[in-house]
Amino acid sequence: MKKTKCENPSCYRLKCVNCGAYTTEEVSATVCPKCNGALDVEYDYEYMKSHLNFYSLRNAPVSARKYLEFYPLKNLNLLVTLSEGGTPLRKCDRLGKELGLKKLYIKNEGENPTGVFKDRGSLVELTKARELGAKAVCCASTGNMAASVSAYAAIADMPCYVLVPDGTPIGKLAQSLIYGARILQIRGTYADCCKLCERMAKKHNFYLAGDYVFRAEGQKSCAYEIVEQLFWKVPDVVIVPMGCGTNISAIWKGFKEFYEMGFTDKLPRIIGVQPESVPTIVKAFDEKKKRYVRVDKPASVASAVGIGEPLDDIKALNALRESKGCGETADDITILEAEKDMAHKESIFVEPSAALPVACLKKLLKRKIIKPDDIVVCVATGVGLKDPKSATQIMPDPPVLEPTDEDINKYLKNKVYEIRASSVAGKENVLWEKTPQPAKVKEIVKSEFNFVLSDDYLKEVCKEVKLFHEKVSKMRKADLQYIVENVLKEFTGKEKVFFVKDYALSVTRHKKPHAKVVVSYLGEILKTEAEGAGPVDAIIKAARKAIQKKDKLECWLTSFNVEIKTKGTDAVVEVRMGVKSKDGTEVIASATSPDIIVASIEAFERGYNMLYYKQR
Ligand SMILES: *Cc1c(COP(=O)(O)O)cnc(C)c1O
Ligand SMILES: [Zn+2]
Repeated sequence: MKKTKCENPSCYRLKCVNCGAYTTEEVSATVCPKCNGALDVEYDYEYMKSHLNFYSLRNAPVSARKYLEFYPLKNLNLLVTLSEGGTPLRKCDRLGKELGLKKLYIKNEGENPTGVFKDRGSLVELTKARELGAKAVCCASTGNMAASVSAYAAIADMPCYVLVPDGTPIGKLAQSLIYGARILQIRGTYADCCKLCERMAKKHNFYLAGDYVFRAEGQKSCAYEIVEQLFWKVPDVVIVPMGCGTNISAIWKGFKEFYEMGFTDKLPRIIGVQPESVPTIVKAFDEKKKRYVRVDKPASVASAVGIGEPLDDIKALNALRESKGCGETADDITILEAEKDMAHKESIFVEPSAALPVACLKKLLKRKIIKPDDIVVCVATGVGLKDPKSATQIMPDPPVLEPTDEDINKYLKNKVYEIRASSVAGKENVLWEKTPQPAKVKEIVKSEFNFVLSDDYLKEVCKEVKLFHEKVSKMRKADLQYIVENVLKEFTGKEKVFFVKDYALSVTRHKKPHAKVVVSYLGEILKTEAEGAGPVDAIIKAARKAIQKKDKLECWLTSFNVEIKTKGTDAVVEVRMGVKSKDGTEVIASATSPDIIVASIEAFERGYNMLYYKQR
């Protein structure tokens, strides 16, 4: 490592990794004023060495604040900290055994104060903001940066403005909001947010937080901790997810510094991993390019690394090249499977981006990049609770039962939980194109989901399958899974007292949808009609009229949610409906179908029948 002459009291200089120009933090604390390139901090390691307290470094417990001497800070009275770092390095024997790795570790960065490694960076960055006299901070984010910067801005008593792309996971937004940030959701990508934020900072004189030079310095502590937690040994391989590439370059710098200081005698290979659909840095590495390969519209379940124009690509590529590492990618399904495995096998619940390193292990073993007895550290960058949708995407909804022992016993006897063990792979596979015989349906459910349908469930599944094929010819694995799950969840084995036999929709002269329905209610056939704000509304209004006619159990809708369950032209939607009766009893019913009207009617029927049986 190149040594620089110490000119300022804390002994560091800012250097552009693109054009090599030097600058000072008073001029720019973010990017190179000459070329907009990323900046790096150069230290005088001789000076550092002579000022270190080796004794306390060796003996104090791990924590990001233990390494203050390694950060470019000048006034420690201004420190903004929430006790970050000190996260566990877990030896993962169950997961390792399955993959054929003897020494697999997971560094669980989800145990930081806001659930993500970025807190290590926020410690240094927000302290620097204070040192430079900032009155407010702003940042662009895919969610986690926002949450972390908001938390540190709150404790530092600074207003915080956050730009996120529209559609950011709700857990991350909620976190930022509750810390008091002023969030602006932008109809654009993360890259759009970044550019807007840079201009906003300049114009309004906010401190620009984000994947810039001071954050990177804070994030080095992850590497220091790994070395300490391995009892001052260096792992063979460290695998890190890459979005902007800031964290991976910070971790590499951390390992280099401990080597430079003489604490360690070797360096690990650094492997950077990305989603298959957003391989900006991995592709640049493979094609020996100097800069990233741009992705215009990043789309991956790993939203925290869905960054099409990484800011720290040069540093990240250096980390891969200098350390003799490489890049690897995984597709969304494999990422979600890894998320599931980490939780099932090691009780570590992460978000999809944080599951990327584990998701790439199989490929890396196959490529012989890692060997079975290598010490491998996977950096699990963030906790899973902030993005619960990704977890529920692979795990079927749990069943809803009536509060009776009978229902519980039935659930256990039928082993309904077994479907949970089914894999998410091959979701798009077409299982059949024409309604098969019940025996065939039973066989396929057994082979695809490892679940044996009992006769009454099978009958119900076949009914649903038939309805499905009235709309769509091809049955994909994902479609069948939703049908089976729903039957398991909703089917009570009780006769329906109410159902819609038929309906017809038209539009009135006033352009309002008008529905005629034929319902069967307590064995009687009733015909009613009604107008509604929309077609679903009209049908349900007409159905409720029929119920009112008999003056039985009146009910209202309390909620109505529609979610697209499978993408594409033949998308299957799930309708979830809250239905409430006069006496205040409320149930939630759901149904899936490629047709939103059919799903809505079915959910309403289910809800009503549930209420009916609850009343008695
Ligand atoms: C930010 C983030 C990353 C990517 O880190 P970079 O420094 O942008 O490469 C990975 N995982 C999670 C959970 C993150 O929040
Ligand atoms: Zn430059």
